[in-house]
Amino acid sequence: VIEQGQPDHSVVTTCAYCGVGCSFKAEMKGEEVIRMVPYKGGKANMGHSCVKGRFAFGYATHKDRITEPMIRDSIDQPWKKVSWEEAIEFSARRLQETQTKYGRESIGGITSSRCTNEETYLVQKLIRAAFGNNNTDTCARVCHSPTGYGLKVTMGEAAGTQTFESVLQSDTVLVMGANPTDAHPVFGSLLRKRLRQGAKLIVIDPRSIDLLKTPHLGNAVHLQLRPGTNVAMINALAHVIVSEGLEDADFISKRCDDDNYQRWRAFIQQPENSPEAVEEVTGVAASDIRKAALWFAEAGNSAIYYGLGVTEHSQGSTTVMGIANLAMATGNIGREGVGVNPLRGQNNVQGSCDMGSFPHDLPGYQHVADDIARARFEARWGVTLDHEPGLRIPNMFDSALAGEFKGMYVQGEDIAQSDPNTQHVEAALEALDILIVQDIFLNETAKFAHVLLPGSTFLEKDGTFTNAERRINRVRKVMTPLGGKQDWEVTVMLSNALGYPMDYKHPSEIMDEIAELTPTFTGVSYQKLEEMGSIQWPCNEEFPDGSPTMHVEDFPIGEGQFAVTQYVPTSEKSTSRFPLLLTTGRILSQYNVGAQTRRTANQAWHDEDILEIHPADAELRGISDGDWLGIRSRAGDTVMRASISERMQPGVVYTTFHHPGSGANVITTDSSDWATNCPEYKVTAVQVEKVSQP
Ligand code: SF4
Repeated sequence: VIEQGQPDHSVVTTCAYCGVGCSFKAEMKGEEVIRMVPYKGGKANMGHSCVKGRFAFGYATHKDRITEPMIRDSIDQPWKKVSWEEAIEFSARRLQETQTKYGRESIGGITSSRCTNEETYLVQKLIRAAFGNNNTDTCARVCHSPTGYGLKVTMGEAAGTQTFESVLQSDTVLVMGANPTDAHPVFGSLLRKRLRQGAKLIVIDPRSIDLLKTPHLGNAVHLQLRPGTNVAMINALAHVIVSEGLEDADFISKRCDDDNYQRWRAFIQQPENSPEAVEEVTGVAASDIRKAALWFAEAGNSAIYYGLGVTEHSQGSTTVMGIANLAMATGNIGREGVGVNPLRGQNNVQGSCDMGSFPHDLPGYQHVADDIARARFEARWGVTLDHEPGLRIPNMFDSALAGEFKGMYVQGEDIAQSDPNTQHVEAALEALDILIVQDIFLNETAKFAHVLLPGSTFLEKDGTFTNAERRINRVRKVMTPLGGKQDWEVTVMLSNALGYPMDYKHPSEIMDEIAELTPTFTGVSYQKLEEMGSIQWPCNEEFPDGSPTMHVEDFPIGEGQFAVTQYVPTSEKSTSRFPLLLTTGRILSQYNVGAQTRRTANQAWHDEDILEIHPADAELRGISDGDWLGIRSRAGDTVMRASISERMQPGVVYTTFHHPGSGANVITTDSSDWATNCPEYKVTAVQVEKVSQP
């Protein structure tokens, strides 16, 4: 904990950890942060915070920070420290040589959900305008890309529908594949407050979560399903609602497309979607499924909150569409206390998606094949843009291994640790001719890089983050970047060196350009953010003060579109060779790959990933608490220590992925969502056995 001395001034900024987007007052002595004080004026947190935002900021000045650019001709050579100018010139030259040798499509880049909106906007602009292709993707690919797809198809906008505060009006809350008290703690506390007031709770999760232990919790049901069976469960809930005649006929007839609704209705009534049939698939008692469906349909206001336990599956997009079906069928859209609410993992997942980081979407989810939208960007940027979607992250890896994709610029993401099937990722990175990594630490990915550019933390930059409720919050610079440059300045330098001029003096000018080109942002400016504190998009002529609740009168696509959600079992099945199913998640004190929290006092609370295993599975294998375990999947193997726990059902094991040494992603496979390639982190068939200490 860093708390010392008295501050001489303070600056309001936004937490750089989870998608709640809490506001803090950084209390400063000169350029030193004395403490982070939760800001009462922050509309996402109203003065509340968790241990990460409040205490885990010391990584910003950690001795491991990269502060000087470095280059090397090949990855077996030592790093050479160089000036910014030399590093940028080297990067631009190697990228151009690669394109000359292998073609325009042979390079691409990855934006980061940790960086600001302005920074992600500039990286995708660099790739589309200076690289001349659409090979841009974001780390949201591996978390919430199915949310983007599923919500866009059904309701026309790739975003959650409510404010966090809206949950205080909910009568029933369905939490699916999310663990808010650990992963989104400030929202988790708000939800607990509502549960203590008597709202009913439905949890759909293979593992028991702390929300189920809320003191004075009234009615709650845990639908503890087998990993990989989410679609069957959502279909069964809808089946009960339709069979019992509990649909909101008025909402459906006024707001939804009738042909699609009739098609969905006929599908959902089929016997395979009945609670009894789904009990066989999920392992959850039909009576509990029926009870949950009635609670959801009969409440005045029912809301759905979901996390990566929904999206990171081979049917992640199907489950998101099933969730939207459920909300539309019961009329739980367009007012406070209801809605569909993806809980975003990283601080700016929503923003990186909004800013056009995907290979198929320009900023504001405008498809690259949309001639009118593309023409607007072409006129503003002064280039001709490609109308074909580019490569997604997993396609980049595959193409690199095929010898076609040869150069990559990665800003603020550690793909070698965070993406599944580590061996496959590392082999792809090793096959590149030029890898440019821009990061605050020498991460796992940087081991394969030819250029290392110092990144800047949230304390060293100006910009905005957009949280899970579409709230655009200001990030304010409180200290000089240790490497001398903010991330957006580095992208500008690289673009200029590549011959595509960029000229911005401040991120506010980048936001002005975003507003000019993005219909949902036309009313957003730094001046308005100063006046209002924060803005929830859409903010434009129709909604000049932003939009706390979406889809109040209609959907952006006119009518809501029900989607047929056929359950297809995952290929990751338990077999005699791999009899257990592994699922993964996070804990309160650590954060994602741990690059930041492991370099703070939070490390003392959780310093290794462990494998939670049910007592019955442990007994079968002679395993005791703390034993070392070998864990093997079809992708690879690793070792972790055991924790005997009844939080899972027999046959299911669980771990976190915060520590590079544990190799959680060495064993996850490259099975992925059919629509978006989001990896199936949440289901991996494994064998577990006791081993001697490594
Ligand atoms: Fe930061 Fe999320 Fe904690 Fe808020 S809840 S302080 S945004 S990590």
